Amino acid sequence: MADSIAPRSSHRAPTLAVIGGGQLARMMAQPAIAMGLPLRLLAEAEGVSAAQVIPDQLVGDYRDLPTLLKVVDGCSTVTFDHEHVPTEHLHALSSAGVNVHPGPEALVHAQDKGVMRERLTALGVPCPRHALVSTPEEVESFGFPAVLKTTRGGYDGKGVWVVRSAEDCADAFSTAAESDVRILAEELVDFRRELSVLVARSPSGQAAAYPVVASTQRDGICHEVVAPAPDLSPELAAQAQQIGLRVAGELGVTGILAVELFETTDGRVLVNELAMRPHNTGHWTQDGAVTSQFENHLRAVMDLPLGSPSPRARWTVMVNILGGDSDTGHLYDGLPHALARDPHLRVHLYGKDLRPGRKVGHVNAYGDDLDDCLERARHAAAWFRGDLGETSE
Ligand code: ADP
Repeated sequence: MADSIAPRSSHRAPTLAVIGGGQLARMMAQPAIAMGLPLRLLAEAEGVSAAQVIPDQLVGDYRDLPTLLKVVDGCSTVTFDHEHVPTEHLHALSSAGVNVHPGPEALVHAQDKGVMRERLTALGVPCPRHALVSTPEEVESFGFPAVLKTTRGGYDGKGVWVVRSAEDCADAFSTAAESDVRILAEELVDFRRELSVLVARSPSGQAAAYPVVASTQRDGICHEVVAPAPDLSPELAAQAQQIGLRVAGELGVTGILAVELFETTDGRVLVNELAMRPHNTGHWTQDGAVTSQFENHLRAVMDLPLGSPSPRARWTVMVNILGGDSDTGHLYDGLPHALARDPHLRVHLYGKDLRPGRKVGHVNAYGDDLDDCLERARHAAAWFRGDLGETSE
């Protein structure tokens, strides 16, 4: 009934500050437009991906507190395109009266793999066997083969080494010494495939879990996602969603939490790592779910009711478009063929310059037939990449 609805308290929508001008911030702009939510951006350089679409912007360094304070001035809330803002600055923003989502206590678990492993183990969340190590001898006592990871600063497979002998450990320890971070050793998990579960959680505690997806990596970069993960047992799917919801609740995550998981060959799920922002394994939701991860991230950080994470189609396939080795043209040149061949295809381009291996866009194909979705999405991504030899894989 109209009488029971709270009266409007303001004539203007609050402004949300977004730190970081990459494609994740760019894709937050679409639902922000739809919801009438003004965004203010801190971009790392003129003309970067999100700076092309968010007019209220500042260019500056996210490691500089006065710059951050200037960006959030007049904003109710601040959120992030990446996880690199120093923890002490997040506390300072909070003290300045801005809602920081996700907050520093939660975000540290996405910034530091050592802290994350310790906390998840204490919560009884299944993880690979692990230990913090400081010498090759300690890795030897941990046991080979092992996976060594820098606790901070790794991304897209950088800062991860598979080692089988003490000699193999040299690169990892020299990288750690140079960048003043620690090394985490993990057992080399024998996995069937990589899964991911996304959860949106608001400060008032409402949470929604998306269907569990399967992701394929290539050269350490997410390449393809199938939603939902084919042939996943309902028990493991439920377990993965429960892990996501539990971690989000226990760590007090606000916004999107992505939990990357291994499905082991002996039928278990183990947590690989956490991200606290919209995630590449959730791009399928833009076209394949009732509410996209970007919209639910905005709803969550603004403490608005969350939208349904239910799928819109039986299958959705996302394939990333990466810059190839011999790019000469513009991605826009790929549109006529891709769109004409497949009127149901959804294309998302990030406005970035083409560089080999760089994520510059993705495509989503949805429908009732998984093989058809795979073929359409792979063909389109290969077409944009100028590399049609790979479509027959
Ligand atoms: P990043 O922070 O670069 O994403 P991850 O910790 O996700 O690093 O590791 C990158 C990739 O390395 C994973 O996607 C997975 O394929 C592989 N990997 C990571 N940890 C392990 C492990 N313990 N056992 C086997 N493979 C692993």
